[in-house]
Amino acid sequence: MESPLTAAEPMLWSGWGDPAKAAELPAPVRDLLAQLLGVRAPATPAATFGEVRLPPVALPPPLLAALAAIVGDEHVRADDDARIRHTRGKSTPDLLLMRAGDASDAPDAVVLPGSHDEVAAVLRLCAEHRVAVVPFGGGTSVVGGLVAARCGSEGGFTGVVALDLARLNRLVSVDPVSMIAELEPGLRAPQAEQLLTAHGLTLGHFPQSYEYATLGGFAAARSSGQASAGYGRFDDMVAGMTVATPRGTLEIGRAPKSAAGPDLRQVFLGSEGAFGVITSLRLRVRRAPAVRAYEGWRFAGFAEGAAAMRRLAQQEAPPPTVLRLSDETETMVGLAKPTDLGAAGRDSGCLLVAGFEGSTGDVAYRRDLAAAVLVEAGGVHLGPEPGDAWAQGRFSAPYLRDSLLAAGATVETLETACFWSNLPRLYDAVRLALLGALGSPLVMCHISHVYATGASLYFTVVTAQTGDPLGQWAAAKRAANEAIVQAGGTISHHHGVGRDHREAYAAEIGDLGGEILRGVKERLDPAGILNPGVLIP
Ligand SMILES: Cc1cc2nc3c(=O)[nH]c(=O)nc-3n(C[C@H](O)[C@H](O)[C@H](O)COP(=O)(O)OP(=O)(O)OC[C@H]3O[C@@H](n4cnc5c(N)ncnc54)[C@H](O)[C@@H]3O)c2cc1C
Repeated sequence: MESPLTAAEPMLWSGWGDPAKAAELPAPVRDLLAQLLGVRAPATPAATFGEVRLPPVALPPPLLAALAAIVGDEHVRADDDARIRHTRGKSTPDLLLMRAGDASDAPDAVVLPGSHDEVAAVLRLCAEHRVAVVPFGGGTSVVGGLVAARCGSEGGFTGVVALDLARLNRLVSVDPVSMIAELEPGLRAPQAEQLLTAHGLTLGHFPQSYEYATLGGFAAARSSGQASAGYGRFDDMVAGMTVATPRGTLEIGRAPKSAAGPDLRQVFLGSEGAFGVITSLRLRVRRAPAVRAYEGWRFAGFAEGAAAMRRLAQQEAPPPTVLRLSDETETMVGLAKPTDLGAAGRDSGCLLVAGFEGSTGDVAYRRDLAAAVLVEAGGVHLGPEPGDAWAQGRFSAPYLRDSLLAAGATVETLETACFWSNLPRLYDAVRLALLGALGSPLVMCHISHVYATGASLYFTVVTAQTGDPLGQWAAAKRAANEAIVQAGGTISHHHGVGRDHREAYAAEIGDLGGEILRGVKERLDPAGILNPGVLIP
């Protein structure tokens, strides 16, 4: 029952990413956190791997044997190591629980199917024996998308299986005429890019979780990458898919657009494993860019920068590939060197990063167009340095979160979106809610996904941990969720619903919306085994 092949294995079990890349906070930064935010080292050190507590395996041995008969002995794991590494996702509350040695949500077993047929067979078996199944991609959910409800009104299950899709990791085919590639869902983003690069292609999907998240997770949680202005969101890229459900298989998508009724792709995009398991994706691909150029612009304030972004998003010409604007606080923190964090002040304005990817001629053309708009909107060109600095550090922030947690700071992110006319109101409402709930935290925000009609807001919060950091963040998150709902934002632009946003999502879609989702769930998954407790109000 041993196999090194799971999606989660190279990931730090209690934090983010490759343990070799973990970085201690320099002493001067610790001092500054203490002075600015009152951060103190936590009273209790983080649990070691050996100290983690997890419940006994609930699945009876004959069921484990039946699962092994489908996928092979070595692809069913009920050892502590596999179970701990498949416990929850990577939100800050998830990490705080693991750091406290709490793996009470561990699945009973980790099952690694090697094909669509094996996925379908596992679902049939689990439906027959009322075993909850949690599809597991990269395990980077930040909304409680990987915790199955075992009991209560949602539960009463024989046990819980994490269905790790890491073995579904092939590039199945490339159609260079249609510019579509068929890829399996367990591929992590870098693996997928590597396979496509060999054909001179790219997906262009680079979320901050890029190093670990999978294609299936991107589709199931409607992910959006840092280059969404140019390449689009992940759901824009999905031309078709194969889905295994307990009731059978669906093949969806046979033309770029269709008038043949409602688009069933939309039933599964964002379905977070509650309706079926995506076993294959037909994705729109682009030619790998010859040139990648990033640059910085300064604006007097967040409102001025946002207005400039709106003009770029609403112009006829294609916008930059990457567009992100930090508010005054995020700009100040980002520009400061660790040693002069307190000295930069709030007068640094706001930093906008514009990135251009494509052929040499295309990049030059779009750069000139964007520069004309940005200058007219009051922007000051800062050259390539801030853009290159952003590009180099774009995947490193999650490692910093681990160091901040260890130092005694609570750090977490949340995001929303709305139409342009409502953006200032939503920004103020969420900031005020976070400030009100946490006293004097650092609240930073950026806009990094823009559309002709609106944009997303992404908040990062840093505050001193109290004796009950989970309760502290739960209160702040509740306040922010209420503010989002009341100010007319969506509860998520790209993290999804999971368990954490279920209540707010119910408010967003109303009673009838909830009924529709329950109807779909009942049809596709009558035994209710698929990721019980997520998404459906
Ligand atoms: C540090 C950090 C940074 C992040 N940055 C971004 C970002 O920039 N943009 C962004 O969009 N998100 C971001 N996220 C959130 C997360 O990475 C995304 O939600 C991503 O889409 C999840 O992919 P995954 O493979 O890890 O899925 P998982 O976390 O394993 O699963 C997510 C959900 O999808 C379901 N699921 C997974 N695979 C399948 C499948 N094949 N079929 C059906 N259901 C499935 C799971 O059951 C779960 O409910 C970030 C998360 C972290 C921790």
